Amino acid sequence: MDLSNIPSLITPAVSRFLAEKHKLYIDGQWVDTVSGATMAVEDPATGQQLATVPAGDSADVDKAVAAARKAFETGPWPKLSPIERGKLISKLALRIEELADELAEIEAIDGGKPLAYARHGDMVQTSVTYHYMAGWASKLNGEQIQLTGGGDFHAYTLRQPVGVAGLILPWNFPQILLSYKLAPALAAGCTVVIKPAEQTPLSTLRLARIIEEVGFPPGVVNVVTGMGETAGAAIAEHPDVDKVAFTGSTEVGKIVARAATGNMKRLTLELGGKSPMIVFPDADLERAIPGITGAGFYHQGQVCTAGTRIYVHRSIHDKLLDGIAEQASKLAAGHPLQPGTQLGPLISDEQFQRVSGLIEEGRKAGADVVTGGRRIGNAGYFIEPTLLAKTNHSMSVVREEIFGPVVCAMSFDDDDLDEIARAANDTPYGLAASIWTTNLGIAHKMASRVKAGNVWINTHSAFDSALPFGGAKQSGWGRECGFEAIRAYTEIKAVCAAL
Ligand code: NAD
Repeated sequence: MDLSNIPSLITPAVSRFLAEKHKLYIDGQWVDTVSGATMAVEDPATGQQLATVPAGDSADVDKAVAAARKAFETGPWPKLSPIERGKLISKLALRIEELADELAEIEAIDGGKPLAYARHGDMVQTSVTYHYMAGWASKLNGEQIQLTGGGDFHAYTLRQPVGVAGLILPWNFPQILLSYKLAPALAAGCTVVIKPAEQTPLSTLRLARIIEEVGFPPGVVNVVTGMGETAGAAIAEHPDVDKVAFTGSTEVGKIVARAATGNMKRLTLELGGKSPMIVFPDADLERAIPGITGAGFYHQGQVCTAGTRIYVHRSIHDKLLDGIAEQASKLAAGHPLQPGTQLGPLISDEQFQRVSGLIEEGRKAGADVVTGGRRIGNAGYFIEPTLLAKTNHSMSVVREEIFGPVVCAMSFDDDDLDEIARAANDTPYGLAASIWTTNLGIAHKMASRVKAGNVWINTHSAFDSALPFGGAKQSGWGRECGFEAIRAYTEIKAVCAAL
């Protein structure tokens, strides 16, 4: 892999942006951290430093929360009409569309995602989510309630913004996952403090400029870059934050949940997964092979809903695995900015070591490496797409969320749906699952048996801003997208008047 031409692939606009002195965005102002601390951001494809950003901590979070509180209580924001609020969100969506090339480039270079995926996947879904949620701003209705006792009462509910929301993000889809939180928060009338992942803060700093440019009042959106244990923890435990929306690992999600109980914050948690893909003998393999290859290896498997456990009927086991191995081994590895790249690096050395270690553990435990398993090149953090056969539920590769390009395959013999579901559900996670069959009855019977927040039939990781998304079991609390997201940023007030 030749990485020598990378600087020439960075456009002048992004080069200038990377070189700037980055600041926090608090109360409509660009400010340094109280402590003066900064942190380096690296390109995971080369391991080289890309930029320096502020390392905010609790003192900066205090300032950001105070700004968000002021904007929520007394700023122009609560006085804007729902249509005006929706128009601002739409303006943001349109500006993201106009700047999509630049934002995608920042996303690609910072997070290691192939540019084409960042441009045609991330940025499209991001702008669509703002467009979709803009419409909800003017539809926050309560309802009239018929009291059981009758009488001269008029009872109804009001749907009102929950207040100041803290948004804590992971590094794998910085802008999409931010839009899943920020768009409904703004539509509901909340104000926010955003903490992007320390690995990928750059596109959020760029977005903050767009937010400033389109005219959101000061304090409505605040951005504090920094580490999780400092800036993230300060948001989770802050007594003046009313709601936290967190996406990240189940381990940190539990820490956030404990911290949030201090003032009984509203909480949505989008956490880890170990999603099964169940392939019946009548599956359309022309469709299942590319679908499962994409489910397992898109963004190097660093997707919370990545399909990581295949359960396939023995009669088509070899055909399916041969097909996946052939397609996976052809994925073109390269720097995310190099044209034609389909497989970028893992996010960090730490993640590279962890994934390599788990593959080795699988091998030692008796898994068959059908394809992959090795490092690619010696710069950056590239690993071959890896398909493991002859795996079972006692192996760590089957039990743990790997968050890398590793898919495990297991087979079943008969069509006992309960038995298949038992295997698929034998995990603490419950984020997603896919079912591959041409039999409608089996598809829907299986969909009801799998314990997951999202079940796909003959596809995988199909997201839509209108479709509720989130996890069962230890994959999280609550849902993002659709009206469920609006619920998460609003509080219901019951009003009862004696007439
Ligand atoms: P992570 O849990 O390490 O970090 C997520 C965020 O939490 C980061 O911003 C981090 O700085 C912050 N953080 C860390 N410690 C904190 C603390 N003590 N208090 C408050 N905040 C803290 O996760 P990651 O490595 O960035 O992302 C990968 C994980 O995210 C995977 O487990 C993946 O499955 C999950 N994920 C889930 C979804 C979903 O929608 N369910 C989507 C994407 C990623």
